[in-house]
Amino acid sequence: MQDKIQEITPKRKHSAKDGEKSYAKDEAKDQAKDEAKDQAKDEAAENRFLQRYSRHLMLEEIGEAGQKRLTTSSVAVFGAGGLGSAALLYLAASGVGILHIIDPDNVSLDNLQRQILFSTPDIGRAKSHSAKDNLAQLNPEIEIVAHRARIDAQSAESFLQPCDIAVDCSDNFAARDALNSACLAQAKPLISAAAIGFNACLIRLQPGRANSPCYRCLHPQEPVFTNIPRCDTVGIFAPSTGVMGSMQAAETLKCLLGKPSLLESHLLWYDALAGQFHEFACAKNPKCPTCA
Ligand SMILES: [Zn+2]
Repeated sequence: MQDKIQEITPKRKHSAKDGEKSYAKDEAKDQAKDEAKDQAKDEAAENRFLQRYSRHLMLEEIGEAGQKRLTTSSVAVFGAGGLGSAALLYLAASGVGILHIIDPDNVSLDNLQRQILFSTPDIGRAKSHSAKDNLAQLNPEIEIVAHRARIDAQSAESFLQPCDIAVDCSDNFAARDALNSACLAQAKPLISAAAIGFNACLIRLQPGRANSPCYRCLHPQEPVFTNIPRCDTVGIFAPSTGVMGSMQAAETLKCLLGKPSLLESHLLWYDALAGQFHEFACAKNPKCPTCA
């Protein structure tokens, strides 16, 4: 009799608890799928990292730890002209994680003789945005932030804030002075270069370090406007900006990797016409208007 009762007793109805169980099962399945997808993505990203930066990874002085340090660094490049073009191309190719590009101008035809980041179709576009697009094609793994902005005291301070290092590729004293003050205030290194005619120079300024000069230690007097040679009045030898911009990238990468340099205490002078480099020792100026 008991068996019969059992036979005619309908099987337990689908309860709310069963629904919860099946929902939990589906959720667990989805989670496992998502995890597998994430793992595949991570593996693909790791493979791209190993392949893209393999020639850096081979260098004992950089290796995997150094390259990962570069990919987690951020650099602000002030000025996307001749110096900035070369510096930005190498910084992007080398895998600096976040690049901020600050420049107020548009690309013009007479820029293309030396500003190798741009091509003829870029004429008329904002340099910062055009640079961002072109660099993103070179290295889509990094983040690039374009700022179409003039370089003054306020913008130098705010654009430098999220970055580890400033690269000065600007073309006027006011911008250089503003960058110098911002780097001193935030105790961040400044890789400063300039180019005119057949000459170019470079120095790595390290605020906070004993005896490290600042830009105004080297240039205590603001030059009289009419005395400043400009590339649009005296001309500029195209490759000299590329040489110095590339060296700015080298000093920036070394600085991010914690490598010392002669250029922390010496100004490098490049005479492209003679084919010569010279180094001049520089020291803190006790009468500097900015850091003394
Ligand atoms: Zn100084």
